[in-house]
Amino acid sequence: MKLKTVLLILLLPLLYVREGTNAQADEPGPTYVIQPGDTITSIAGRFGIWADAVISANALTNPDSIQAGDRIELPGVTWVSGVLDRRAVEFGETLRTLTRRYQVSPLIFSRLNGAVSPGQVFVGYPAMLPTETGERLGGERIAVRSGESLLEAGIRAGVNPWALAVANRIGGAAGLLPGDVLLVPGSVGSGPGALPSPISQLSLSPLPLVQGKTIVIRAAANGEPLEIGGTLVDKTLHFYDQPDGSLAAMQGIHALLPEGLYPFSVAGRLADGSSFSYQQLVAVRSGRYDSERITVSENYLDDQQSLRENELVEGLVAEFTPEKLWSGLFILPTPYGDVINSYFGTRRSYNGSPYDYFHTGVDWGGGEGTPVLAPAAGIVVFAGLLEVRGNATIIDHGWGVYTGYWHQSRLDVEVGDVVSPGEAIGVVGNTGRSTGAHLHWEIWVGGVQVEPLDWLYQTYP
Ligand SMILES: [Zn+2]
Repeated sequence: MKLKTVLLILLLPLLYVREGTNAQADEPGPTYVIQPGDTITSIAGRFGIWADAVISANALTNPDSIQAGDRIELPGVTWVSGVLDRRAVEFGETLRTLTRRYQVSPLIFSRLNGAVSPGQVFVGYPAMLPTETGERLGGERIAVRSGESLLEAGIRAGVNPWALAVANRIGGAAGLLPGDVLLVPGSVGSGPGALPSPISQLSLSPLPLVQGKTIVIRAAANGEPLEIGGTLVDKTLHFYDQPDGSLAAMQGIHALLPEGLYPFSVAGRLADGSSFSYQQLVAVRSGRYDSERITVSENYLDDQQSLRENELVEGLVAEFTPEKLWSGLFILPTPYGDVINSYFGTRRSYNGSPYDYFHTGVDWGGGEGTPVLAPAAGIVVFAGLLEVRGNATIIDHGWGVYTGYWHQSRLDVEVGDVVSPGEAIGVVGNTGRSTGAHLHWEIWVGGVQVEPLDWLYQTYP
């Protein structure tokens, strides 16, 4: 039994190559769409053919004058057909769904793209694919259930099981893995390819993710009930029902998170009781923040007092209140909205240290005695004197969204108070570790400080 399985695994890739070879033996080579940076020599080298053969087959009088977007024939290339072009890998796709959707074997996909592992097919990855001949499968998707046979899966999908197997390149019943999402041939539909129908939407916005930004994650199952959870980078997502029947979660991206690829994953259950899961790498881009050097007393650098205070605040803003208390845009927390002394995200070097710190909010001027206003409805969860932040207020707006107000000269609210937009909650001051009267205002989303100004211009979620 074990030997049989091993043999199958060894034979399958060979079969795929043979299949490709036979099918195109009498046909002209594939068409290749010139990509930026390509030369005839580099293209020929990649496909293992002679540059001269490419030049003569395409009657190129000046091989140096090819331009991105031009199409050329690749003579003698028999292992792939169609129009070869790059497509940015869409959100919701995996290596497996791509090979199925474009009807290209994993080996040929690897040959076109260099050795690619599933984890490398991140959102936006420029995948070389046989377009135009592919994309035949894009509609309904079913997730294989535990213990389900190919026959049963075919019946459930309403298609011939053999057609299902061929279209999804699975070698009989042995190839069925619970949770594997199969594309149903001949069907129409929309939604992320790696998730089963009826999931009609899964999105991250903005994408690529940006340092310091609030990310909105949306999911929908064509109006059907959907249970969903997930993680983004290293944070657990909390999804909440939306008026339109979809679900949404919000998560802040840390302003100092290094640029790169990070995991996004979701898992859940559909109305019919079947479960699904999906993971893809997504890119985090720079927030392009300024940097500044600041000198402070050595006693005030990561001292025990400020670390304890950070822990206190982080503990408060880690809770997710299930009610959404705000609605619409946030309003300015000060009557002097134009007097911004310092922006969010600025990299800070203290006493010549690396730029390992950042400004966690927006500083507004306006002077001692200026009223501090609640920007949205919420409940006060902290109002008291802290050593670093001075007289501080923290408001819970629900769904993991909190706002903080530091360095006030006077607090006008208490823990448990319900505040409404525009309500005066305190007075601007110079308490705590502050070098002049100002209001430091910050917003936390999912336990991470984000660009607060976004919340004045954009409605979340
Ligand atoms: Zn500040």
